[in-house]
Amino acid sequence: MDPKTNLVITQQFVRRLIKKAGKILKNYFYSDNIIRKEKAGVDFTTEADQEVDKFLQSKIKSRYVKSNFLTEETAPKDYSSLSDTENLWVIDPLDGTINFSRKHPNFSISIALMHKGEIILGTIYVPLEDKLYEAMKNREGSYLNNKRIYTSETSALRETVIACDWAWDLEKRKNVIRWIEYLSGQIRQVKSMGSAAADLASLAEGKIDAYIHSGLKPWDVAAAGIIIPKADGIITLPNGSTWSPFDSDILASNGILNKKMLELI
Ligand SMILES: [Mg+2]
Repeated sequence: MDPKTNLVITQQFVRRLIKKAGKILKNYFYSDNIIRKEKAGVDFTTEADQEVDKFLQSKIKSRYVKSNFLTEETAPKDYSSLSDTENLWVIDPLDGTINFSRKHPNFSISIALMHKGEIILGTIYVPLEDKLYEAMKNREGSYLNNKRIYTSETSALRETVIACDWAWDLEKRKNVIRWIEYLSGQIRQVKSMGSAAADLASLAEGKIDAYIHSGLKPWDVAAAGIIIPKADGIITLPNGSTWSPFDSDILASNGILNKKMLELI
């Protein structure tokens, strides 16, 4: 695959694919057939996560033979060496598994294509709302169902609504608690909505002003990593340094608030 010349066609392919995957999740969601499989600590997965992971990988592989994969369900324990890989599909087949298994509608699918460390395509789909967020290299802007989206224009901390979430790694949760402690006295509200990909997409759309997390994996954030900047948002590490999808911590914001939040945390 030549990622540059074929990117538009690839995006159309991913769009169709992610919607089909969304249908599989929807069918599980409305059935009483969500079977949990425990993982380490407080983490777990379901048959739906695994089925959609397999579905996406097989469809992508049969169309793009030279694909490499980093997916939640099949990632090796140490995937850091993959960060510079060519044609790397970074996939979360179901982000927000707790919501999904408890019949809460906020869950999503996240597909990103990275090439030698650069995110060149990002697609996030929220099946129950039929919301498709997209951005790609060499095309201006981010889009929700083909309409251009922008982050919010909130500039005052007292009007700021942020979201955070809780890592499977219980130690990492303490970072979020610390940051929230610094922020909570100054801002309007802190939400925890349960799907990093969907919540970062809602930041790109201007529904929240910032998002903070510790303990993320590349498949949670790689697609948002292109959708947010192209919607005029900013992503950094919570200490202000340059962010990459292989970092576990994130401070994403509408771009106006980044500096003010960094001063507080
Ligand atoms: Mg997942």
